[in-house]
Amino acid sequence: MSGPRAYHQVPVAEVISETGDACSLVLAVPPELADAFAYRPGQFLTVRVPDGAGGSVARCYSLSSSPHTGDLPTITVKRIADGYASNWIADNVRPGDVLDLLPPAGTFSPQHTSVQWTAAAVRTCWEFGAADRPSALVEGCASLRDSIDRAVTAGWLQVAPP
Ligand SMILES: Cc1cc2nc3c(=O)[nH]c(=O)nc-3n(C[C@H](O)[C@H](O)[C@H](O)COP(=O)(O)OP(=O)(O)OC[C@H]3O[C@@H](n4cnc5c(N)ncnc54)[C@H](O)[C@@H]3O)c2cc1C
Repeated sequence: MSGPRAYHQVPVAEVISETGDACSLVLAVPPELADAFAYRPGQFLTVRVPDGAGGSVARCYSLSSSPHTGDLPTITVKRIADGYASNWIADNVRPGDVLDLLPPAGTFSPQHTSVQWTAAAVRTCWEFGAADRPSALVEGCASLRDSIDRAVTAGWLQVAPP
């Protein structure tokens, strides 16, 4: 199969157990697939898994990594009660396995993805998070975390020690 919607074979670099029922698959996208697997925040990958009867099923998983931090592309899969693919992935996928993946898709992304968070946005989010629930807000958004790190490094955002 060829064309933009062709499945590609991508090795799994690491499987991270996030909780009792969720795991992250860190993907070692080969250099020759780097362009095809470039992504924007909010996009998802489609994973094809065997259906046990000689065929396959496909499921979508959002990219849980940030394209701005240099981290490897990652998806996070939560087991669904009686769900087929989510449990198959959790039970079977191990580091070194090769997944059949469609390239990133989806248009639910920030409008200006090449632009980092503005100073005002970072400051507002940080102040909101610090006052309320910093871990939920800040840890949940890798690109925001990255921008905060850069803002602190640049010296225009002071973060008080805990
Ligand atoms: C754009 C997008 C992004 C997504 N991102 C993520 C993500 O980041 N992480 C994540 O974990 N999931 C994500 N999902 C959901 C994911 O694609 C799967 O839908 C999910 O993993 C469940 O798949 P499954 O094969 O395990 O469950 P399925 O086998 O499809 O079953 C799902 C549910 O339907 C029930 N069911 C199945 N068949 C029947 C039937 N015939 N009658 C009645 N009930 C039935 C099952 O019991 C189960 O409760 C995303 C979905 C989309 C569309």
